[in-house]
Amino acid sequence: PREDEKQMLQAHELLSKFYHHLLLNTKEGQEALEYLLSRGFTTESISKFQIGWSLPSWDFTVKFLQKRGYSLDLMEAAGLLVRREKDQSFLDRFRGRIMFPITNPKGKVVGFSGRSLHSDDEPKYLNSPETKIFNKSRILYNFHESRTIIRRKQQIILFEGFADVISASGASVENGVATMGTSLTEGQIGLIKRLTDSVVICYDGDFAGVEAAFRAGNLLLNHQLSIRVAMIPERLDPDDYISKYGKEKFQQDVIGASLTFMAFKLRYYKLNKNLNDEGDRLQYIEDILKEIIHLTNAVEKDYYLRYLAEEFDVSLEALQQQLAEIGGALK
Ligand code: ATP
Ligand code: MN
Ligand code: MN
Ligand code: MN
Repeated sequence: PREDEKQMLQAHELLSKFYHHLLLNTKEGQEALEYLLSRGFTTESISKFQIGWSLPSWDFTVKFLQKRGYSLDLMEAAGLLVRREKDQSFLDRFRGRIMFPITNPKGKVVGFSGRSLHSDDEPKYLNSPETKIFNKSRILYNFHESRTIIRRKQQIILFEGFADVISASGASVENGVATMGTSLTEGQIGLIKRLTDSVVICYDGDFAGVEAAFRAGNLLLNHQLSIRVAMIPERLDPDDYISKYGKEKFQQDVIGASLTFMAFKLRYYKLNKNLNDEGDRLQYIEDILKEIIHLTNAVEKDYYLRYLAEEFDVSLEALQQQLAEIGGALK
């Protein structure tokens, strides 16, 4: 009930402050802090995003919560503790991890994601489970905190990861949110539409990221949103790119050079194809025609047909005929 949820929220608030304190001000947090600084996080961004450190202890959080009178059963239901099989005793869920507090659209901390400090410590990110207060499909990382800027800019930038949102913010790109590794959901699109109808997808530059951008873009298209895609070269992710090339290049050459979704698709369909091969060329033309057929704007349609005609040295008439055939087959 109500009172339970209130307790859960309170515990999250309290713990996020304490984890943050441990990271910034204690010897126990020193290694994690040095790691973050060496990655390019600044003390400003660590404070702004309330990043913390959970001690590598089995029961630090158990005792912390117990001392303050919280029901441990409730704290397990809140995802902060887990229960040991053999004797039903409580353990900390997050142990020895860099803690990213996750807020709901109202700005209350409702969950955590904990990043391991050492690469042999799997999984890399450990998230709070689904709970009464943490419904991942209706949460975007940094949504509450960036909502005013998103409204003002009338643009939202979608990233994959926490680190990308935080680095972008350090590069004065403060209208970013993250889906936290899962594919974009209808609930998250609902959140976006409260603020703006213009979305820039800026996913990782690896193959998985490009595939995810294609899928997310198509989903957003179903909701009448305007979509651009900012692509990152060299298979880097936005955070890596900023570390390597700096803020200005990220602003100008990545965000500023974002492609319309159709222009992204022209590139997307070229991946894994050898356009010197006749079969691949014909397949590419068909792939693009199948996209053109969904365009609602007549000028846009005409523009891309002419582009194909020129690029592949085929007649407009032939393209239009094939377009009509594809249209017929779709009916
Ligand atoms: P980092 O830069 O810290 O190595 P990243 O954000 O680049 O992390 P990716 O592997 O690109 O990490 O994953 C993107 C996002 O997916 C992460 O920020 C995290 O939210 C989520 N994620 C990644 N790995 C896991 C995992 N094992 N379990 C749950 N979520 C994960
Ligand atoms: Mn990735
Ligand atoms: Mn990444
Ligand atoms: Mn990364």
